[in-house]
Amino acid sequence: MKTIIEPFKIKMVEPIKLTTPEHRDAILRRSHFNLFQVPAEEVIIDLLTDSGTSAMSSEQWAGMLRGDESYAGARSWYHFEGVLRELTGMPHILPTHQGRASERILFELVGGPGKVIPSNNHFDTTRANIEHSGARAVDLVIAEGAQPRSRHPFKGNIDVARLEALIADVGPDRIPLCMATVTNNSGGGQPVSLANLRAVREACRRHGIPLFLDACRFAENAYLIKRREPGQHDRSVRAIARELFDLADGATISAKKDGLVNIGGVLLMRDPALARRADDLLILTEGFVTYGGLAGRDLEAMARGFVEVLDEDYLHYRLRSVEYLGEHLLAAGIPIVEPPGGHAIYIDAAAFCPHIPPEQFPGQALVCALYRHAGIRAVEIGSVMFGRVDPDTGESARPPMELVRLAIPRRVYTQSHIDYTVEAAIEVFERREQIRGLRMIDAPPALRHFTAKFVEV
Ligand SMILES: *Cc1c(COP(=O)(O)O)cnc(C)c1O
Repeated sequence: MKTIIEPFKIKMVEPIKLTTPEHRDAILRRSHFNLFQVPAEEVIIDLLTDSGTSAMSSEQWAGMLRGDESYAGARSWYHFEGVLRELTGMPHILPTHQGRASERILFELVGGPGKVIPSNNHFDTTRANIEHSGARAVDLVIAEGAQPRSRHPFKGNIDVARLEALIADVGPDRIPLCMATVTNNSGGGQPVSLANLRAVREACRRHGIPLFLDACRFAENAYLIKRREPGQHDRSVRAIARELFDLADGATISAKKDGLVNIGGVLLMRDPALARRADDLLILTEGFVTYGGLAGRDLEAMARGFVEVLDEDYLHYRLRSVEYLGEHLLAAGIPIVEPPGGHAIYIDAAAFCPHIPPEQFPGQALVCALYRHAGIRAVEIGSVMFGRVDPDTGESARPPMELVRLAIPRRVYTQSHIDYTVEAAIEVFERREQIRGLRMIDAPPALRHFTAKFVEV
């Protein structure tokens, strides 16, 4: 059979309020053309993020009721620990409330002024935690990773020659660890190959540098390895995922992605001395080592989510539905970052709206057009999110690309929701010259995308 169906049935539904373009236009104006200010109830298809937006299974909900809320040594903790140990082989497993809590503990221990931490691309919270410690975060993704039209199968790979050059330049003593983000979220959800990770591991080993994964989307990365990497096709995704972890000395994970839960995180490590110090920090700021700032029911839901995510029928459907969205946009001539990533499609808004100059925020303008036309909420990843105004000169600095991300929540939307999204994007594309640029009238100095206000030009 050619048709790939959602490998689940729906037993609980949440109604979507269907609204008119006129109604959404009023909402948009009231929200100053900023979709972060729009109430979720006014959104028809919410593609703002894939983080914490997964639908849990009946098994996970059953686990919520069975959660053991004992303070220390809860049954749910042992269940969670056993699942994570089997999945990753890591001896030290610390639960945290989300990914950035794991990052904060790790970089408080190994970061600090003078330290340098390379990765393919650091995710923004990872970079922020590294910089908060006083260390420097360096992105070393391969050149193809920054080229939207390159069809390289592993655009998340680390440039090993640049890694070697960095080690030679700053010296291994100043590099407490090397990270690899799987999949590379900031680079478009692109995977890292096993061959690349082995080469990075080898370069690190020669200089005594530990390798850590930012493993939020480890299952999607492992599945893309199975599909794309020579010699991997006949292995199970579980075996590939295990090899990813076997190559690493530790990992930070936000369980809000491939953990299939709405809140939760993990910090993994092999070094017992480092783990001792991490335990102390965990107790200081998150909670005792057997719950880490979570309820027992959250641990139970995570334990089940980390098993379910490795179901290959699920991963096949998941990756295929993202790819399907990308293929249909491309077929209609809509420029996207290629090939489609694991969790999202990124539209090249500068090419979509060539009549809107960067200073009028083509990405934000497209986000508003998609919402007004069809009630779809996407997110701008361009000059609104990453642009800066120099406080001294008044000059604007802009990121290299103006993108709009359509992130797909896990197990939430069906094929017809994706078809609706395709149709909406094509209709907006057909009348793209009607999209109007925006002027920013108010913005805070940092993280301005959450609260900036705009008017139409
Ligand atoms: C989401 C994410 C994080 C941070 O996780 P939170 O749970 O949001 O704190 C870190 N790295 C990557 C790659 C992510 O996608």
